[in-house]
Amino acid sequence: MKRILITGGAGFLGSHLCERLLKEGNDVICMDNYFTGNKRNIMHLLDNPYFELIRHDVTSPFFVEVDEIFNLACPASPIHYQYNGIKTVKTSVMGAINMLGLAKRVKAKILQASTSEVYGDPEIHPQVESYWGHVNPIGQRSCYDEGKRCAETLFINYHQQNNVRIKIIRIFNTYGPRMDPNDGRVVSNFIVQALKGKDITIYGNGMQTRSFQYVDDLINGMIKLMNTGDDFTGPVNVGNPGEFTMLELAEKVIKLTGSNSKLIFQPLPSDDPMQRKPDITLAKKILDWEPKINLDEGLVRTIEYFKTIV
Ligand code: NAD
Ligand code: UDP
Repeated sequence: MKRILITGGAGFLGSHLCERLLKEGNDVICMDNYFTGNKRNIMHLLDNPYFELIRHDVTSPFFVEVDEIFNLACPASPIHYQYNGIKTVKTSVMGAINMLGLAKRVKAKILQASTSEVYGDPEIHPQVESYWGHVNPIGQRSCYDEGKRCAETLFINYHQQNNVRIKIIRIFNTYGPRMDPNDGRVVSNFIVQALKGKDITIYGNGMQTRSFQYVDDLINGMIKLMNTGDDFTGPVNVGNPGEFTMLELAEKVIKLTGSNSKLIFQPLPSDDPMQRKPDITLAKKILDWEPKINLDEGLVRTIEYFKTIV
């Protein structure tokens, strides 16, 4: 049995990871400050004697004896990470320093939840790990993008200078049950709007693309990455290469919910990436991983979840 710390464990992805690692027979410590996460996400785990929940902010030092750390603490949706940009940078940067310091001290292996946002508005397509990205350092998204980029830098430096065993995963847009219906991300927005019969809000002309992966596929990739040999640090892209415009996504959601909602067009937020699609050659080779759940199937499961909460 491994003892595993998950920061941001009460969030959307963290809650699925807690659940999965408990199922695999581990002792799981979930740390969260509930900024965007919620106790409801992990309520069903509280009776498990191998699950511990700790309210703590990752920007303050934290000491616990663990074998592995999954560092997920950070708001992930644009409206939440832009709400307090300074705090977002602190969470990524000071959070990384605190968790890397802990990993160094207790000799734990540590995984950083990085993001496709490190590529910014990419000029090469699909995005490969060797691409350095195209990020506006002073734009609306920079608190998130540059915070995550700096966290990657810290991870690599702790590895090179202090032999900390690190793993960096670059997560592409992920959706599924327990997404926050109010965090403004496109999949949750469209599903909630469709279920309520409200207008579907397309930002810009809807021709921008994203590649959406279902949460179970991501969790499989994340755990496989943590279990790779110590010489593999990443970064590695984990995402579903299926690429869709926001108009195509809206049409799918309308069809699968049987909604009468109409599309309305609203201004495109600044620095909104025009295209995004992972090259997953490295994940296939090193992790023997590829996504299994296509967008239609994942949307059906996600719509079923949202029907129970909206
Ligand atoms: P989320 O907002 O649901 O989860 C983030 C969790 O971190 C929440 O529970 C929140 O309360 C917690 N948190 C935030 N600041 C904290 C702090 N200072 N101290 C302690 N806890 C804090 O988002 P998510 O989608 O589950 O994302 C989880 C991680 O994965 C994030 O690091 C995010 O950047 C990364 N990621 C997610 C996606 C995606 O599509 N969902 C894509 C790329 C990267
Ligand atoms: N988007 C949209 N309508 C919405 C919410 C988002 O058209 O109601 C667009 C947004 O402009 C972006 C894409 O959907 O181009 C994905 O947005 P999200 O915030 O989910 O993720 P990110 O931009 O961080 O990839």
